[in-house]
Amino acid sequence: MTISEQLFEQAKTVIPGGVNSPVRAFRAVGGHPLFIKSAKGPYIYDEDDRQYIELINSWGPMVLGHAFEPVEKAVRDAIGHSFSFGAPTRKEVEMAELIVSMVPSVEKVRMVNSGTEATMAAIRVARGFTGRDKIIKFEGCYHGHGDSFLIAAGSGAMTMGTPDSPGVTKATALDTLTAPYNDLAAVEALIENNTNQIAALILEPVVGNMGCVLPEPGFLEGLRELCTKHEIVLIFDEVMTGFRLAPGGAQQRFGITPDLTTMGKIIGGGMPVGAYGGRADIMNMVSPAGPVYQAGTLSGNPIAMSAGLAMLHYLNDHPEVYTRLDEIGNKLATGFQASLTKLGLPYTINQIGSMFTQFMTDKTVTDFETAKTCDVPRFGRYFHAMLKRGVYLAPSQFESLFVSVALTDELIEQVIQANEESLIEAAE
Ligand code: PLP
Repeated sequence: MTISEQLFEQAKTVIPGGVNSPVRAFRAVGGHPLFIKSAKGPYIYDEDDRQYIELINSWGPMVLGHAFEPVEKAVRDAIGHSFSFGAPTRKEVEMAELIVSMVPSVEKVRMVNSGTEATMAAIRVARGFTGRDKIIKFEGCYHGHGDSFLIAAGSGAMTMGTPDSPGVTKATALDTLTAPYNDLAAVEALIENNTNQIAALILEPVVGNMGCVLPEPGFLEGLRELCTKHEIVLIFDEVMTGFRLAPGGAQQRFGITPDLTTMGKIIGGGMPVGAYGGRADIMNMVSPAGPVYQAGTLSGNPIAMSAGLAMLHYLNDHPEVYTRLDEIGNKLATGFQASLTKLGLPYTINQIGSMFTQFMTDKTVTDFETAKTCDVPRFGRYFHAMLKRGVYLAPSQFESLFVSVALTDELIEQVIQANEESLIEAAE
C-alpha cells in the first residue's frame, strides 16, 4: 500500500468521502487520490515522493507555477504583522484599486473568501437592485456550491452524477431557470415567459466546468443586448477565466462589458480569496453603503491580500505572461491534435489560451448535452495512464486543463508524448 492509499483510508474514517472537496476523491476516474506533500514551479510531489508535471495547478490559481517567489516573499513579509485584524487595511484599498484598474467593467469591488461566496453575493445584490427573484444560469456551468447554482451544475456536481443536490429546496430551484449554453433563442424564450421577473443572468464567459467550452460568435454579444433590453443584471463568473485569459479576463478578451463580475482562484495567489464587483450603482447596494447584507470575519485577510496583490501586480506588470500562456495552450492543442490524427482518433479539442480540454467524443462540444457524449470510462483509463507517466491532470473528463507559465517547452513535449502513449493505452 502506498502512503497516499494509507492516508485515504485514514481520511475516510473522519472526513466525508476522505476529501474536503468532492472531485478530489477520483470517483470519476477510479482509484485513490494522491495526497500531496509539496509543489514547486511546474512540479507537484506526493506523499510517496513521486514527482508529477502539474496541469491542474490548484484548479487554476497557480498560473505562475507553484511557490512563485514574489508571492512567497509577500506572504512571509506579511506574516510578521499578525494574521488577521477584522479591521480595514491599506492592502485592501490597494487590492480594490488594482482590480478596478485591471478588470474593465469593475468600478467598485468587495473581497470575500471564495468563488462560491462571490457568486452567492452577486445574485443577492442583483436581486436587491432589480427587486426581482429569478435568475438564469446555463446547464453545465458551475458557480460554486450555493443552493441557487446546484441546478444543472457542472464540475464536481456533474462528475458525481448529482446535478441537483438533496438539501436544495424546491422553492430555490423554482427561482433558477436554466438554458443550454450557446442557445440565445432559449434565453429569449425564458425572458419572454418570465416578464419582469428575472434579476440576473449568470454565466462562465468561457466554460471550464463541463470541460472547456467556448462561446460561439455572437453569443456573449446577444446576451449583453438581451440583458440591457430587459434590465437584467449580466454577471460574468470569471472565477476561472479572470486574470487567466487576459489581465482583465474574458470580458477584456471578448470586449463585452458585464454589469457584475465574480472572481476567485488567481486573485488570491493560492490563498482562499474571492471578489465580486462591477457597476458602481449596483455595488452601492452592498451593506453598509446600501441595504443588501454581505459580510465576512476573514474577508480582506491581510495574508491573503498580500499573496493576491503580489500575484496581480506581477501579472499586470508582465503582459508577456499572457503571450506565453497562449503559446503553451496552442502548443499543447497542436501536439495533441497531431497525435489524434496519427492514431485516427476522432476526439474533439476545445482550446482558448491556457484553457484546454481533449473531449473523448467525435461530437463538436458546444454545450452540456454534447459534452456528455464523452466516453467517461475511457477517460478514466487515460487519466491513470497519464499519471503513470508523471502527468497530473484533473481527475475528470469535464474539466479544463490549467497550465502555468512554469511549463517549459521540454515539459510540453513530455506531456504531448505521454498523451499519445496514454491514448493508445486507454483504447486497449
Ligand atoms: N465559479 C466558477 C466558474 C468556478 O470554476 C468555481 C470553482 O471551481 C467557483 C465559481 C467556486 O469557487 P470556489 O471553489 O472558490 O468556491
